[in-house]
Amino acid sequence: MKRLKYLMLMITSLLLLLTLSACGSKPLSSQNVLENDKQSKTITWGVKADTKLLGLIDVKDGKEKGFEIDLATALTKKMIGKDAKAKFVTVTSQSRIPLLKNGNIDAIIATMTITPERQKTINFSNSYFDAGQSLLVKDDSSVKKVEDLNNKTIIGVVGSNSVENVKKFAPKAQVLQLPDYAQALTALKSGQGDALTTDNVILAGMAVNNPGYKLQGKAFTTEPYGIGINKGQDDFRKAVNKALKEVQQDGTYNKLIVKWFGDVPGFNYKEVLRK
Ligand code: GLU
Repeated sequence: MKRLKYLMLMITSLLLLLTLSACGSKPLSSQNVLENDKQSKTITWGVKADTKLLGLIDVKDGKEKGFEIDLATALTKKMIGKDAKAKFVTVTSQSRIPLLKNGNIDAIIATMTITPERQKTINFSNSYFDAGQSLLVKDDSSVKKVEDLNNKTIIGVVGSNSVENVKKFAPKAQVLQLPDYAQALTALKSGQGDALTTDNVILAGMAVNNPGYKLQGKAFTTEPYGIGINKGQDDFRKAVNKALKEVQQDGTYNKLIVKWFGDVPGFNYKEVLRK
């Protein structure tokens, strides 16, 4: 009798252990990210840390600041409740998709353009910002437009589509790719290239802090930013789109545009306001 009891106990513990380990290793594709986030009252967003005005870690207090940070916070509250928390993990243009696919973050809100190439591996929300690719040059630069960069060196960031786009407009340019925007700007300032290329709004943020440098020429592409979400997470995607619509309708969106871009030389915030 005692032995039977012991055996039963062993079997129950084994079953419990098996169930627990099965839960822990549940593949991402079979999990419902929105449900998990509702339980933990937290959404983990991948954000930029070196992109002033959009996503920047402020060295003074170590906190993330920018339009995308505020927007992610507002969306979190709309999606899972007023007491919910937005958690931020730093990503770069190169690391953002792998981190999403690994499940380190629930979504990407990091200056990422919706492109057909990226749509092969991840899904996107509706567009939440309209940027366009441009150039940052020294005030006295002879480069007036992107075509002037043929036979010159242009600086960009690995994993951004800007480095691909620019080759179409200046096929004879040399493209020097750095790991992130902080390093790309340092390279421009130390004379390693004739211009830095990425989206106008990112370059405008750099120009604010770097007298002697300016945005040059009109935007030569359109870059609609989307929130990156894993394939199979349609509940999450629908909730993001619903929340995006709400922040646009209740005025939060335009308030954030004015807060972050209302007074930035070289950037017309009125063009990105939404009705
Ligand atoms: N929007 C462009 C992209 O998605 C450039 C900005 C970035 O590197 O994040 O690649």
